[in-house]
This record gives sequence, C-alpha cells and structure tokens, in this order.
Amino acid sequence: MTHAPFVLDADNGADLHRIVIVGGGAGGLHLATRLAGTVGRRRVAEIVLVDRYPTHFWKPLLHEAASGHRDPANYHIEYAAQAKRHGFRFVQGALESVDRSACMATIGAVHDEDGAEMLPQRRVRYDSLVLSVGSVTNFFNVPGAALHALPLESVEHAEVFRRRFLAACTRANHGLETAGMRSMPAINISVIGAGATGVELAAALTHAVDQLSVYRFQALDPKRDVRIRLIEGGTRVLPALDERVSARTDAALRRLKVDVVTGASVAEVRADSLVTGSGDALASDITVWAAGVAGPAILNSLDGIALNAANRVIVTDKLQTPGDPRIFAFGDCAACPSATSSGFLPPRAQVAHQQAMYLGKAFAQRLAGKAVAGFAFRDAGTVVSLGKSGATYQTGGVSSRVLIVDGAAASGLYRLLYRKHLFGVSGMRHAVLEGLGQWLGRWSRPAIKLH
Ligand SMILES: Cc1cc2nc3c(=O)[nH]c(=O)nc-3n(C[C@H](O)[C@H](O)[C@H](O)COP(=O)(O)OP(=O)(O)OC[C@H]3O[C@@H](n4cnc5c(N)ncnc54)[C@H](O)[C@@H]3O)c2cc1C
Repeated sequence: MTHAPFVLDADNGADLHRIVIVGGGAGGLHLATRLAGTVGRRRVAEIVLVDRYPTHFWKPLLHEAASGHRDPANYHIEYAAQAKRHGFRFVQGALESVDRSACMATIGAVHDEDGAEMLPQRRVRYDSLVLSVGSVTNFFNVPGAALHALPLESVEHAEVFRRRFLAACTRANHGLETAGMRSMPAINISVIGAGATGVELAAALTHAVDQLSVYRFQALDPKRDVRIRLIEGGTRVLPALDERVSARTDAALRRLKVDVVTGASVAEVRADSLVTGSGDALASDITVWAAGVAGPAILNSLDGIALNAANRVIVTDKLQTPGDPRIFAFGDCAACPSATSSGFLPPRAQVAHQQAMYLGKAFAQRLAGKAVAGFAFRDAGTVVSLGKSGATYQTGGVSSRVLIVDGAAASGLYRLLYRKHLFGVSGMRHAVLEGLGQWLGRWSRPAIKLH
C-alpha cells in the first residue's frame, strides 16, 4: 500500500509567510540565518532551510580538503545547530519536484548508510520558494569524462580524490623503496581546466606532495616522481582574469614544477590517460575535471521554470523567476543578468554572498509592503590562492584599471574570505571561537592529513 507523502506543517498556525530556502551553501545558509534574525524574529515570516546533507561545508575550501591541508571534519557547520541558534527550521532531504499550483515542494526520502529509510518523502508548503542549490560539474559530454575524471563539488569528492592520491603515493613509495622502481614519473595527476579551482588545486597538490614526502613517503622525490599537469583549452591560465594575473600565476605554477599545458582541449578521458584534441595520449593516473559548471539536473524537472544554456534558472534583477514571482533563485544555480556585460553573473561565492544579503533585505521590504530595488553586483575583485606560495588578488572593475596584489597581502586577503563567511553565518563570537579552535588544531597536528 502506498501512502500520500507526509505534509510538513501544512499550516504553521500563525498565518506566517513561509519562506522555504532549498540549498544551504555559501548563499542559502547565509540567507536563512539573516532572514531568521530579521523577519523570523519579528514573527513576520517562518524560515525553512532544506538541504540534502546534515552539514554545511564552504565550497571554496574544497581544494584544500582534496590536498589534505584541511580536515573537513573541523570545518563543517551543523544545520540543526545553526537552526536552533538562529531560529529557523531545518529539513534534511533533496528537492525532488515543485508543484507550483499548490505551492508545495517535494523533498525526497533520506536513507541511512545501509540504505534503510530514515525519513520518508515529504511535502513542504511555501509562500516564497528560494532555490540556491548551487552547481554541478559540466563535463561537456567529453567521452569518458564523467566516468573516469573526478569532479570537485562536495566533501565526498574531495575525500575520494585525497584517498586515491594517498594510495598512489603509497604504492609509488613502496615501489621505489623495494624494487627501486624508476618509471618516470611514478604518479601522473591531471587537472583539467585552469580557472581558479584548477589553479588552486594544482598549486595545493605540489605542496601536499612535498609535505607527504617529509612525513610519510621518504623514497618519493616530489619533483621527479610526481607529475602534476594542468591542462587548459584557452591560451592562458585564469582566462577570465587580467592577462598580467595569468602571466604571474603561470610563472608561479612553473616554479612549483606544475606542468602547465595551454591551448589543449581534452577530447577523451580514459581510466589511465587523456587524449587531447590533437590526438596526443597523456598518461594520467588520477584526473580531476575542473573545466566548468552547470545548474543541477533537478532544475530541468521544475515545470515552467526557464533555464539558460548552462542549466541555470533565468531570473530578473530581483532574483525572481519571470514566470512565477513566488519562486526566487540565486547563487550558482541562477542566471542573473550582469549590468556590465551582455551575459550573466559568474558562479562565484562573492555573487552568492551579495545576493543573499540583497534577498535578506528585499524580503523584509516586500513583507512590509515596501518597494524593492533590483540587485546590483559590486565586484570586490578576485583572489586566487597558490597555497604556501602566496596568492594573487585582482581588484574588480574594468580591465585597464585593474590593480594586482600578490604575496603575503593577497594570502591574507584569501584567508579573510573564509573568516568573512564564518562571521556572516555564525556571528562574531562563534566565528572567533571557531577560528581559534581551528588555528590551535593546526598547530597541534601535522600540516597535512596523513591517512
Ligand atoms: C574547489 C572550489 C574552489 C572555489 N573557490 C572559489 C573562490 O576562491 N572564490 C569564489 O568566489 N568562488 C569559489 N568557488 C565557487 C563557490 O564555491 C560557489 O560559487 C559558491 O559556493 C556558490 O554558492 P551557492 O550557495 O550558490 O551554492 P553552494 O555553495 O554550492 O551550495 C549549494 C547547496 O545546495 C545543496 N543542494 C544541492 N542540490 C540540492 C537538492 N536537490 N536539494 C537540497 N539541497 C541541495 C548542496 O548540498 C549545497 O549545500 C569555488 C568552488 C570550488 C568547487
């Protein structure tokens, strides 16, 4: 016998406007926290946050989790704890569908590790629905890519990469110790896409190999035995940034002995190699795909919601879907028109953060019956980390007026980004305490995760 899905508090008893936010990432968690502290606290609205996972992890730290420089366990925020502390409601489960005529979102069942159901499928009524489900890797239908290349979208992906990387180092080290294995190099790692994610991962990996060879794999010569290749289809690394930033970053990567290959598209990914557009086969034991993102597949199934070519929800400058003003979308999953170009704003944490701030204010105004202005993005610049080798910061604005800062000042700026996020979602006291705990932990543990 099948049961109709359970409806979560169809009536909240107080006739409150219910804002359901789906996706508690860089933007969604910030918005839920902010709304809970304003319209939620004033009992004007009820705030519900839905996420498929029980914890939040700030995605820009993923490359450091993949390289082993940060243990994700120390950087999670538990949604339930955040909800209790700030006064919103958390519902765990993945969005499955939206019934726009009934204003109901269907949230999928949640299963335990053995596959047994913990929570059934549920329906959540909304007055306003905010989609902030982020993005997924875009493999651009390159043969073999989805099967053999690893994406870097979640902590699970970072962990899969890290374990494969450690296993490859363990095997190579053992081979070098016992059989004097000298196949040159012993490990080939390919990172496809030299945007910020690819560059940051490649740089972090060079430092990781250095540190692992000190702590655990003494037979491994980081420069001789491990090849880290960064492959970019465009003519330069960081193609979205100023040419001077690209040139400096390229030089810094080469100093780190990253094999930078530009102007090379990847035509096929195999289990142990890559084939370039010109037919060259390159050995690759571990391949990471960092060449682009698209909106998650769930967005395709939302009836009447228009998407752009990258599967992102098309929104107005008020971040509403043109066909249904009760549905909003922001962050990576939204195609928000750019005021300075004919395209859309890029999928970046900075955009998601500013849009969360904007929506927090806009909901308060809307619920108070006030007029709401459109969202205006202010580019605060881009900082790209090269791990222990520093960072590069490019100010926002038009290219000819760009200011470039690198070295310690840019590294400091990069570290501040996460602190700013933590401060925004946890408040000053918690952010300082958490920051202190993380800092102390880093002093008492090896600089890299060794298992
Ligand atoms: C390795 C890496 C490094 C990066 N570095 C930078 C950087 O230095 N600077 C920068 O500006 N940007 C950076 N980015 C991009 C940045 O992380 C994203 O732009 C930002 O996280 C987008 O925020 P968001 O809230 O839109 O989505 P996300 O932060 O991705 O959050 C989406 C949330 O939705 C949830 N979700 C997804 N599907 C469902 C579903 N069906 N139902 C329920 N919940 C769902 C997810 O669990 C997640 O919690 C980086 C990204 C990566 C991967």
